[in-house]
Amino acid sequence: MTSTLPTRQSSGVPIRPTTPDSAPLPVSLRIRQRLEANGVSFLANDNIADHLLEGDLDQLEIEVAGKVRELLRSLVIDIDNDHNTEETAERVARMYLQEVFKGRYNHQPKIASFPNVKKLDEIYTVGPITVRSACSHHLVPILGNCWIGIKPGERVIGLSKFSRVADWVFSRPHIQEEAVMILADEIERLCEPQGLAILVKAQHYCMKWRGVKEPQTSMVNSVVRGDFRHDPSLKAEFFELVKQQGALLTS
Ligand SMILES: [Zn+2]
Repeated sequence: MTSTLPTRQSSGVPIRPTTPDSAPLPVSLRIRQRLEANGVSFLANDNIADHLLEGDLDQLEIEVAGKVRELLRSLVIDIDNDHNTEETAERVARMYLQEVFKGRYNHQPKIASFPNVKKLDEIYTVGPITVRSACSHHLVPILGNCWIGIKPGERVIGLSKFSRVADWVFSRPHIQEEAVMILADEIERLCEPQGLAILVKAQHYCMKWRGVKEPQTSMVNSVVRGDFRHDPSLKAEFFELVKQQGALLTS
């Protein structure tokens, strides 16, 4: 691989970069410079879609495939002769950018909200909604279910839209605690409910597949906002409804 970074001779005098200054920067570096110039955060669970230009994602996929190829070589896998791993680098790059981490690189799916003309104010819950993510620490799957409770406010959205926004938020590297907070922020933005409660129960493959290798352990966490936070009976009603929807069944 050709490095674009200058190295130093033993005398400490910088050696000229091996790539001419006019050579285009890798696309990831161009995007990164754009983000930094705008003071935009690009942590693993941030969405950077607003700062991508047309064609960036295609170029990024090529760049990432090249890095995965290097990773496989570093793992001493004979990708030149192994028919099974011949195109693994391309597949992995496509999987990250177009599927499992698509929530970083794509805009939120279009979700229309409508005025709450009937002034509905009874709570309802939606779930289980399947959530799929990857842990930020090991990049292995987090798979689970999510339940969302709403006390409607000024606006309402269709039930299926909760699945769409959850899929978009979870399709990034995460830790579960932050994923739930980010999902709550997005739902509040979409329908400004009087109350919002979210419960997530998920299994972490970094605990199942490696490490302590606990196949049955799951993590449950919740966030309650607005009326669900202030009114204990409403909060209890949410957890009772979720129980009826199967949250406490073993999965
Ligand atoms: Zn992990």
